[in-house]
Amino acid sequence: MHARNCWEYKKCGRQPGGNKVAQFGLCPATIDDGADGLNRGRFAGRICWAVSGTFCGGEIQGTFAEKHATCTNCDFFSLVCQEENIEMFKLLKPGQIFKPVF
Ligand code: SF4
Repeated sequence: MHARNCWEYKKCGRQPGGNKVAQFGLCPATIDDGADGLNRGRFAGRICWAVSGTFCGGEIQGTFAEKHATCTNCDFFSLVCQEENIEMFKLLKPGQIFKPVF
């Protein structure tokens, strides 16, 4: 199975061509070129927690620091941790800045 992006896993419909785009707009995680390929994802689809202003849960989420508690308790976040075998995600403390490891 290919590495699923958050919008495929959450079925949020906020990716290009998604069924919620007309109502809520595109989620920034689905068009973030700078994150393309991180954790084997398309755009920021597998690092959405590091993108400000995502739409998870139907609300605009803030910066990483603001959405830290939500994201680190997210089942997709845990899934990416496991699939990418990245231990460091579990060590982040509130307000700590995430630095991607290549
Ligand atoms: S961050 Fe959330 S709202 Fe945005 S594309 Fe991913 S699952 Fe959908």
